[in-house]
Parts: sequence; structure tokens; C-alpha cells
Amino acid sequence: MKATFPQMGNIYIAAKALFEGLGIEYVIPPKCSKTDLDIGSLHSPEEICLPFKLMIGNYIHAIEKGADTIILAGSCGPCRFGEYCELQMNLLKSMGYNMNFIVIDYPKDIGMMELHRRIHKISSESKKNTIQKINALLNALKVLNLMDEIEETAHMYAGFERNKGECKNLLIECRKDTLECDNAYSMIKIMNQYKQKLNHLSVDINKNPLKIAIIGEIYTIIEPYSNFYIEEKLMDYGVSSSRKLTPSWWVKNAALSPLKINSVKIRKNAKKYIPIGIGGHAVECIGEAVTASKNGFDGAIQILPMGCMPEIVSKAILPTISKDLDFPVMSLIVDDMDGEAGYITRMEAFIDLLERRRKNALSGC
Ligand code: SF4
Repeated sequence: MKATFPQMGNIYIAAKALFEGLGIEYVIPPKCSKTDLDIGSLHSPEEICLPFKLMIGNYIHAIEKGADTIILAGSCGPCRFGEYCELQMNLLKSMGYNMNFIVIDYPKDIGMMELHRRIHKISSESKKNTIQKINALLNALKVLNLMDEIEETAHMYAGFERNKGECKNLLIECRKDTLECDNAYSMIKIMNQYKQKLNHLSVDINKNPLKIAIIGEIYTIIEPYSNFYIEEKLMDYGVSSSRKLTPSWWVKNAALSPLKINSVKIRKNAKKYIPIGIGGHAVECIGEAVTASKNGFDGAIQILPMGCMPEIVSKAILPTISKDLDFPVMSLIVDDMDGEAGYITRMEAFIDLLERRRKNALSGC
């Protein structure tokens, strides 16, 4: 087996830790780019959403480097994500690539037995003993958690830093140095060092930066190429941001979902506006908006791909939340990635609006 997986934020770092630990050959696809989108757009159904197109580009690049097995997280729908695996399999077949697909799905959808069977399909390729395999998995989870933790701290501290750009640079260096390690233990060591560095960063606690929550469709908020690197741009503007939907959140949420104790606070906060799940992460998007407002954030930015079914519903609900809670929310629709200038203008206008609201509140207007 030569495994690969779609690019999505920092997942490639944890995947490296896992495959190195298991001793399974793997290919990390190049970071998402215009080439991926062009390849994906050329071969994908026209009306399919952006993540699908970028993933196809990732696969083709990985196949060119010898990958024969694609591992991806799945869902039984009801949005298009439920069809991704089948559609992608058929599409690659029609292009002449006969790939193995292993879909890691929620146990509530496929059952524990089936999940176990799929995980076994991967682990049986490893020559390591059971203890080493368990350690490989635990270490990969540790890497995933640490990376998300470091990223979250850097995004929040960016608004308080004394030396402009320090948080962003630390984050970039952390990813680079971690990726250069050839085993999970050194990755964890390096990440802990960066965590310490971040915690000792020179910050001005008297600053009161704008705080913006990033909400919306999980792929487009996590994969920076698909959102024009919004979190990095907010760091450049000296804005603190927070995004609760992360790869480690997804793992935790999936593990707790059979017991129905997953994301309790988010679901509780969303209930008034969206009482049932409609696919994707619409409930989480709404719950996060309400939570951010309660937690004193200045506003939220919803990011969604064009035609995303669950997020169109969230987008229709968000103005009501805005009105009820006096909480500004801006929705940004991403698709062909051509309109970066317009996207930045809207983001800057939103930041201006939030700053003006603050000033008006202080002056009692
Ligand atoms: S959540 Fe939206 S973007 Fe993601 S697969 Fe479903 S429809 Fe497509």
C-alpha cells in the first residue's frame, strides 16, 4: 500500500506522524494550489462543491507520485459529502486510475464493527506489533491536538503581540520544523518547544483587539487555500480570531457521537435556530455564532463554498441571530478562487464596521 489523503489544513502533519509510526509508505500531496483546482474543475461535475474539486487535484498529484490507496474521512450525508467517495472513485476510474478507497466514517453511521474493519485494512499493512500500532495512532492524535492548540493560541495572541508578525512567523516555522522530523516523537518535542515559545511571547495584555469567530463549512474554514488564507490575513490586521471546528475537534466529535455527548454546548446554543441536523456542519455553524456572541466576540465570518447545501441554510438563519443578539456576521462564498481582491475588500470593510461599532459603543452613540 502507498497511502495518500486529501490536503486539509494541518492534517498532513498528523498523517505523516501516523504513517511513519506504522511504517506504511505514503505520499503527502502538494499543498492545495490553483493547479489542483484547475485539474479538479476540469474533471469534476460542474455543480459539485469546491472541496471535491481540490481533492481531485490532490489525488492526481499523489497518484503521479505512486499512491495507490486514498484514505479520507466520510459521511453518510445528507449533503453531497455523503456521495464524495462513490463519485470520486468513479471519476478516477473513468480517468484510468484504479484506486483503493478507505473511508473513515462516523461509527453512528457505519457501526463500530465496520469502522474497525476499515481501520484494520490500514493497520494490516503495517509490520509493527500491536503496541507499536497503538502508539503510532496515539502519537498521531497527540500531534493533531498539539498543532491545533498551537494554531489556536497563535491566532488569538496575534491581536495582543507587541512585535508585529511574531505569532504568524512562529506558526509557519513550527509547521516547517515539525514536517522535517522523521518520527512522531521528535514532532511532539518540536511542537512542545514552539508551544513554550508562544506562551513566552511578548504580548500587551492591555490591548483590546477585535475578536472574530471563523464559522462555516468545515473544509473551507480549515483549508487555508480555499479561504484565501483568511486567518493569516486577520493576524496581519492585528485581529484575534478563533475557529472551533478543527481536525482534532472532528476526531473528538466523531468519538463521542455514539454516546450523544459530542459538542453539547454548540448543539444547545444552536437549538433555538436549527433544532435538527441537516448535514455538513450547519448546526455547528449556528451554534458557534451564538457561542461567539455570548463569549464577547465582536463578530463572525461565515465561509462557505458556492452551492453548499447545509451552509446555505445557515446563511439564511444567521441574519436572525445577528438581529436577535446584535452580533455582526458576514458570509463569504468561495468557489473559483479568482476574486481575491473583492474578498479582501469585503473583509477590510467588515473589520472597519466592527471597529466603528466599538467606537460608537464607547462614545455612547
Ligand atoms: S458541506 Fe457543503 S461543501 Fe461540504 S460536501 Fe456538503 S455540500 Fe459540499
